[in-house]
Amino acid sequence: MNRKKADELSKEFGLNVVQSRYSDWGNFYGLVQNYPCALWDKSGYVIFNNEDDLNIPEISVAKRINIPKRISSLKTYKLVLHEAQLPEELPSGVVYQEGTAQKIIVNKYERDKNARYACLSHYGYICQVCHVKLSDVYGAIAENLIHVHHLKPISEIGENYTVDPISDLLPVCPNCHAVIHLRNPPYLPQEVSHMLHKASTSQTDKIAI
Ligand SMILES: [Zn+2]
Ligand SMILES: [Zn+2]
Repeated sequence: MNRKKADELSKEFGLNVVQSRYSDWGNFYGLVQNYPCALWDKSGYVIFNNEDDLNIPEISVAKRINIPKRISSLKTYKLVLHEAQLPEELPSGVVYQEGTAQKIIVNKYERDKNARYACLSHYGYICQVCHVKLSDVYGAIAENLIHVHHLKPISEIGENYTVDPISDLLPVCPNCHAVIHLRNPPYLPQEVSHMLHKASTSQTDKIAI
């Protein structure tokens, strides 16, 4: 599974490599045999152009490649993904994304990085349900933190379906996303927006009383 994941990532990011390996912990179960090679973890990669590149104190090469401080400790490490954008994959292909309120089941369209990018360049990093921009609340650290929700019911998706990043995807904050997925089929963003509005007016009523 990890080898497949590494190959997919290298392809996705257009790396010109002949071998890819993946490990979150710096234990690459095997050796690098073909160059250039990309070693991946969940947030980025390092490329090795030849055997000499492996010859640094941070890396131990025995029967397998081991980087005790993880590849992110290497100088040439390139960070390309925010951890939140690449949820752990489960064997069934179903993906749970960490939400603040609960775990959210997302489908492959919500994880498609190109579609996600196109969606966010159109809407910006603003939740389309509660209109919060997370960096306004948490500061610069949360600048790229947003989920992308897929609006089309899976039952309506045929084989030749291609996602439209603007009409089919919607940026939502992790809280609103969690609420959307409290039901299956998911609530419509408008419904959650309505809940939010109703809840806040009843809050105001209480305060007024
Ligand atoms: Zn929201
Ligand atoms: Zn969703």
